[in-house]
Amino acid sequence: MPTRLWRAALDMGLRKKVAIVFIGMLTLAALNLGLLHRMLQEFNGVAATATVAGKMRMLGQKLAYETLSVSSGLSDDYEALEHDLIDFEAAYLVLRSGGTAFNEVVHPLAADHDVALGAVWLAWRQYRNQIRSILTSVGQVSPSVVVEQQKTLATASAALLEQTDHLIQDLLGATQATQQDMLGRMYTLLVVNSLILIAAYLAMSAQIVTPLQRLARYCRELAKGRYGQRIQHKPQDEIGQLTRALNESSAQIGELMSAIEHERKELYRTSAMFRGLARNAVTGVFVVDGDMRFRYVNSKLAQMFGYQPDEMASNLTVPDLLVEADLNGGRWQRSTGEDGQRSNGSATSHYETRARHRDGSFLDLEIFASRMVLDGAPAIIGIALNVTERKKAEASIRRAALVYANTSEAVVVTDPNGIVVDINPAFTAITGYAAQEVIGQPISLLSSGRQDAAFYQAMWRSLLETGKWSGDIWNRRKDGTEYAERLTIDTSYNEDGTVNCRIGVFSDVTAERLKEETVWHQANFDHLTALPNRQMFHDELQRAMEQADKADHSLALIYLDLDLFKEVNDSLGHDMGDELLKQVAKRLQQAIRGDDLVARLGGDEFVLILNHVKDLKHVEEVCHRVLKAVAEPYMLRHNVATVSASLGVTQYPHDGSNVVELLQNADLAMYSAKDAGRNQYRHFSPLMQQEAQERRELLRHLMRAVEHEEFELYFQPIVELSTRKISKAEALIRWHHPERGLVSPADFIPLAEDSGLIVPIGDWVFRQAAVQAAKWRRYLGRDFQISVNVSPEQFMSEELEPASWLAYVNSLGMSGAAVVVEITERVLMKVEDDVKRKLLSFRDAGVQVALDDFGTGYSSLAYLKRFDIDFIKIDQLFVRNITTDADDLALCQAMIAMAHRLGLKVVAEGVSDETQHALLAQAGCDYAQGFLYSRPVPVAAFEQLMEQGLSAASQHSVTLN
Ligand code: C2E
Ligand code: MG
Ligand code: MG
Repeated sequence: MPTRLWRAALDMGLRKKVAIVFIGMLTLAALNLGLLHRMLQEFNGVAATATVAGKMRMLGQKLAYETLSVSSGLSDDYEALEHDLIDFEAAYLVLRSGGTAFNEVVHPLAADHDVALGAVWLAWRQYRNQIRSILTSVGQVSPSVVVEQQKTLATASAALLEQTDHLIQDLLGATQATQQDMLGRMYTLLVVNSLILIAAYLAMSAQIVTPLQRLARYCRELAKGRYGQRIQHKPQDEIGQLTRALNESSAQIGELMSAIEHERKELYRTSAMFRGLARNAVTGVFVVDGDMRFRYVNSKLAQMFGYQPDEMASNLTVPDLLVEADLNGGRWQRSTGEDGQRSNGSATSHYETRARHRDGSFLDLEIFASRMVLDGAPAIIGIALNVTERKKAEASIRRAALVYANTSEAVVVTDPNGIVVDINPAFTAITGYAAQEVIGQPISLLSSGRQDAAFYQAMWRSLLETGKWSGDIWNRRKDGTEYAERLTIDTSYNEDGTVNCRIGVFSDVTAERLKEETVWHQANFDHLTALPNRQMFHDELQRAMEQADKADHSLALIYLDLDLFKEVNDSLGHDMGDELLKQVAKRLQQAIRGDDLVARLGGDEFVLILNHVKDLKHVEEVCHRVLKAVAEPYMLRHNVATVSASLGVTQYPHDGSNVVELLQNADLAMYSAKDAGRNQYRHFSPLMQQEAQERRELLRHLMRAVEHEEFELYFQPIVELSTRKISKAEALIRWHHPERGLVSPADFIPLAEDSGLIVPIGDWVFRQAAVQAAKWRRYLGRDFQISVNVSPEQFMSEELEPASWLAYVNSLGMSGAAVVVEITERVLMKVEDDVKRKLLSFRDAGVQVALDDFGTGYSSLAYLKRFDIDFIKIDQLFVRNITTDADDLALCQAMIAMAHRLGLKVVAEGVSDETQHALLAQAGCDYAQGFLYSRPVPVAAFEQLMEQGLSAASQHSVTLN
């Protein structure tokens, strides 16, 4: 029962609960008020009693005073006295039984005070009696009696005072007790109040605040999406109802959310599948609505047509893309037509169609389309495959079959083991084997045996690794003849990766290969000597260097240049020159070992590669052998010729690290051998590079010298032997080098000849000499001539033009006879027409020609006859020794006699003493030149020479030269 009540109380509505609490509070406040009121009343009653007792005390005293006044005759106010007596007694009665006295409402005193009260009454009665006796005896008794009476009165008054004081004390004690009691009761009330308030608070808190807080927490959890939680609140009040509603809502929302989540996942999965499908790189995916507008296209489809997906979806319709023939009445309409639009079924269609790419080209498409409903309207979803390539491939397969049968290229199909499965007609045409003869046979049937096992191993390795091989191969036809085929092998695989078959396609390239070999031979071999040429030499040297690196040995390179080969060529003709080169090549080949190499670099330059060089001795032996072999006489048809060779030796890796460097250094060494007098070999040394560098520097300076005209002409007199009269002068160039001082022509003329600078230098010399000739002819008469040296390189240069020189000479007022051109035999050995023409031009213009350094070259009489030579100049080599060497004297005499017989004059060079002069004069020599008469001297000295005579100048010239 109480539980049920309790439950009913709990189930009460919040408003009721709050009202109950409110009413409870109000009641509590009222009770408190009543209680306090009562306590105050109680306290007031006690206080009033004390006040009345206090007043009675004072009244007793007052009565004594009044009685004394009356008895003393000081007052006769009996009435007031009587009044006070009544008041005292009335007050006493009020104290005893309750009532109002002195305006104070007094409750009857408790029995505790009865003794004090009785004592007061007794004292009062005596006191009253005393007063009355006094009053009645006023005026009737003697003063002493009066005094006695008064004393008795005082005693009675004191006794009354004492008793009233007792009573007051008693009452005060009672008041204090009442106060204590009230204080106690007030504390109790406070405690009770507090307990009630706490209980009310706890009840409120338990019933309202805590559930509300829990609810608030719960709502926050819900807001966070935690719908699985529940809240407990049993009472059926509003919070209970709210709790239940929230629990239900949360359960429903939870279910809803999980349903949504589930649907969302489903949707995500579906859209991911669709996206995955749409993002594929092969298939175009589209959705088209009833108006044939694209609602969706994937990038592949857009890419197929050359558009961006957005662009295609927003701007294009199906008719824009499909070729009309297909669209009108075509398959698209049939598949998406009326039926499709009305039906919601999932009818699908599959067909091929043609469409137009953005660039105007056509695509072949294979389309799979299904009807669907999109946004409540019929639509088509489909995929499109670009089958253009497949179509082409099909066409190409058809064509390939045709080609296979009709091509001129042989096709052979083998199984993985190389057994022939099929061939085409061209195979038969090339190999001679008919289909029935080869099908079932191994393809090695065609093998010629020309390729070694390593070749076939490499081919199989390639086939196994890549499935492909291509290259040229020599095979054998049915008739046994070999042929070259250019073969490409490809492999067709099964789906599991195993080989299905191999297809070989080849053409007959026999003719081409033979031609290539010839071309290769031509490109790598010298056609004249059949030796490897420069190209092959480079490759071979490179290879030899690599091998040397691997084997850690060295190799030697010998650069060989024939000495004076030009002369053979010039004198005996090119055919003989070629023949000589062929014989040289043979001799060189015989002079080396089998694994060494001889190559011809061109002209008369050869190069030898000596492999596996262990020591220098071996290289030197080869050099000696080569020099000896080359120097042997050559039979050239009816002539016997001799040449020598200059060799330059370099070693790898000692002298150079690459082909170019090695060759350059060998070349330098060869030049050094030539400089040293030919027919010998020289090892390369870094010094040679320095010399070459110096040569290059000198060349630079020489170029500058030409530009700045740093040259000066010296003149050496040529005297008539018989009279010692100066009849000619030879112009000899000098170079005033800014740093080196005077440079002799022997030091720079060869360089000028090599570099071609001799042409401008020679031209300058000629013009300077002509100017001097014009000047000096005035002193020395019209016969005076100046000899000018013309190098072969200069003479043969296109820039030397006799006509221009003659014009210049004429412009100076002279004829051609004023100059003599000194050439050497090297010029005459040139059989070129141009040389002849120039010599004839000089002759026609009266310019005389002297053959310089006669006796050192070929000294061929034939030349002297053939070209109109005017002088020979016997080289100082012969003149130098005529006083001591009878042979040289005899030679000079013979040369003079021979020249005279041919109608030529003779100049002897290098005459340095009187004996030589005398011997030459005896031999009938016409002119002489040499230090005996004068050294070459500058213009001023030469003029002095002409004025003062030879002897004076001769001394002077010593210092000048
Ligand atoms: P070359 O034409 O045979 O000139 C004669 C050389 O013999 C001159 O040497 C001359 O000084 C020297 N000589 C003359 N008499 C004597 C002698 O008694 N004893 C000795 N030991 N030598 C004597 P140079 O002037 O040094 O000229 C050397 C060569 O340079 C010339 O030989 C010539 O071939 C060439 N040369 C000089 N000037 C020119 C030039 O303007 N053009 C060309 N192309 N070559 C020149
Ligand atoms: Mg000369
Ligand atoms: Mg000379």
